[in-house]
Parts: sequence; C-alpha cells; structure tokens
Amino acid sequence: MVAGWFAIPLWQRVIGALILGIIVGYVWGPGAESIKIIGDIFIAFIKMLVVPLIFFSLVAGVASIGDLRKLGSVGWRALLIFVVTGQMAVWLGLGIGTFVQPGSGIDGASMSLDQGALDRAQSRQEEAVTVQQMILEIVPSSPVQVMADVNVLPLIVFSLLIGIGILMAKEDGEPVLKIFESGSVVMQKVTMVVMELTPFGVFALMAWVAGTLGVEALQALGILVFLNYLGCLLIIGLIYAGMIKFIAKLPVIDFFRGIVDAIAVSYSTASSNATLPVTLRCAERNLGISNSVASFVIALGATINMNGTAMYLGLATLFGAQAFGVQLDMADYITISVLGTLGAIGAAGIPGSGLIMMVLVFSAVGVPLETIALVAGIDRIMDMMRTTTNVSGDAAVATTVASLTGEIDRAEMISADDV
Ligand code: ASP
Repeated sequence: MVAGWFAIPLWQRVIGALILGIIVGYVWGPGAESIKIIGDIFIAFIKMLVVPLIFFSLVAGVASIGDLRKLGSVGWRALLIFVVTGQMAVWLGLGIGTFVQPGSGIDGASMSLDQGALDRAQSRQEEAVTVQQMILEIVPSSPVQVMADVNVLPLIVFSLLIGIGILMAKEDGEPVLKIFESGSVVMQKVTMVVMELTPFGVFALMAWVAGTLGVEALQALGILVFLNYLGCLLIIGLIYAGMIKFIAKLPVIDFFRGIVDAIAVSYSTASSNATLPVTLRCAERNLGISNSVASFVIALGATINMNGTAMYLGLATLFGAQAFGVQLDMADYITISVLGTLGAIGAAGIPGSGLIMMVLVFSAVGVPLETIALVAGIDRIMDMMRTTTNVSGDAAVATTVASLTGEIDRAEMISADDV
C-alpha cells in the first residue's frame, strides 16, 4: 500500500486531497475544524524551513554572482534582466491584487485564529514607526537572535553580507562557500521530505476552509488561482514575448515552439531544478544558444530568476491583507516589491518554495501568517504555473542575452521544426 501511495505522482495526490478535502468539509460543516491540527502541523514544518532555507540559499545565490564577472557582458546583462523583470512581475501581482481585491471575499476576523495574530496585525498599524526605528530593525545586531525570532528582514541583510564577504575573500572564502552550497542542497532535500506531507495538510486545510468558511471562501480561493494563472500568462505573453521580439529580435512563435518540452516538464514537476536538464537541451538544441551562455544563464536563472514566484508573492500578500483587513500604504508596497524580488531569489527551484517565502514578505508588512493556512491547500495548482513561468523566463533571458552577445545560431532556432 505504501509503495502504491508513492507510485502516484505527488501532484496527483495533492489534487486528489484537495478535492476530497472540499467534499469532506462541505459535508461535515464546522466540525471539520477538528482536523485542522493536521494542516497546522504541515504549516509548522513549513515555518521550520524558512530560516535555514533563506540563509543557505541566499548566501549561496549571492556568492554565485561572483561567477558573473567571469562572463563579463553576458553576466551583467543576465543579472540586469533578472532584476528588472522580477520587479515588473511583483508590481504586476500588486496591480492585479489591488484591482481585483481577491481576498475581500474572506472574512478573516471570523476565522478561529490565534487572536494574537490579529492583534499584532492591528497594533502594527497603530504604531507609527519612525524611519530611524525601521533602519535599526533591519540591522542584524544579534544574528542568532534574528534567526531564533524568525526575523526575516535582518536575516536577509545578514545573508547578503555573508555572501558579499565570501566574494571578497576569494580563494579563502571557498571552503565557507562550499558549506553554503552544500547546505542549500541539503535544505532542498529536507524541503522535499516536508512536501510529502502536502496531501495530508491540503486535505485538512481544505476541509477546514470548506467547513467553517463556506462557499464564499472557496470562491475567493478560486479567484486567487485564476489571478495567479492570469498574472503568469501576462508575464509570459507580454514581458517574455516582448523581450524576444523587441530586444532579441527573434520570432516569438519559434521561441515558444522551441521550449515546449521545458514547459510540459516544468508544469508537471513544479520544480525549476528538476526541469533544468530539459531547459538546457531546449536552449541549445532548439534555440541554437551556445553552450556557455545557455548553461550559465539557465543554471543561474533556475535558482535566482523566478518571476512567476515574484508575481505571486505580491498577489498573495495583498490577498492576505484584504482577508484580514490589514491596510497597506505605499511604503508597504515598496517593501513587498523589494522582498518579493529577494524572496524569488531566495526561493529554491523546488515545489512549494514560493509558499515558504510567503513568511518572509507577510511578516515584513504585518499580514497574519494564518493566510498561509488559507492558501496552502491550493498552492500546488498555482505552483505548477509559477514554475512554468520561471522556466520560460530562464529560457527567454538566455535567448535575449545570447542574441545581444552574438551567441545564438539564428538559423538553427528558426528552422527548429523537428522539436
Ligand atoms: N516551484 C517553483 C520553482 O521551482 C518555485 C515556487 O514555489 O514558486 O520554480
């Protein structure tokens, strides 16, 4: 039986659990609250991953930028496009979330939440934080304390500084870099183990949402899923297609035809890392990108270029803020945009990492972490589309940079009919 369970792909188990959870919750009603504890355990494991995952993967990510110098013109162009498109993606998510207000259909206050979370969200709005205080808060005066408190802003500052330190130390920094690189791989494995709990967590959370919050909440979640797909399709259809047409000056249709395999694999695995070999093959064989540019840009992109994730972090933060009545001002939007981009860089290319990065953005702007319980049940379906967006982005950036630096065989790309 155990072997039979694992023989079913995880995403199918998750979708099955989602449907079953909704039915059970609907039939059971408010009593379904009693199994929410299973979902809470799942979320507690996710929270466990936040600090080590951000720390290892951000330090390793920043330190890997050192390789950029070696590639000169390719490196800085790729990095620039990663950052600019990442920002465009978060603002797109924020725009869609502000316009459609997907979270307003949920009455967060009526949820049987830990009252402390709501109080914290409210009190945060009442206290006027001075600029001096804000700056002081992001300085990691005691790194261990920062980790113990899961205080993500100073943790990011600390991780960035360690990454920069490794870069400055050159050869002497290599042993430390190895620790972080290997730590990041280990944390990815741990995350995969935790993700095996997803079907159980999803079942319990969906039963709870359907049983206690009812149809309106399910509708709101359905709208969120729809907006996640819409945002991702806009990124692919406008930003990537525009980049290929106007900057790389290549035929858009041929580009997408060339990456069909990567699109299919990324959608079904929800993992940029697992798709990496396929993306590379598409880039070199079907798009005619030189091996050096393809391997460098796509491998780096799989870890730090995640526009689908960045867009979703913006959208989900607004969803949570609307559900729990947290007012956000322009300064909060800017914080979300910066953290959304950093969260996307810090997210590993594995299923569910976008969900983990929510903790980072939510806690910075006072959105209750209980929002994660609300959206965790539907995360997998959204993750699949985010990953396809992330992977298409890696290929689009590699194509653009290769075109700008003359590292693409245009004839090969355009004639790639036999993909
Ligand atoms: N699963 C995504 C990826 O591998 C990241 C995410 O969860 O958004 O690209």
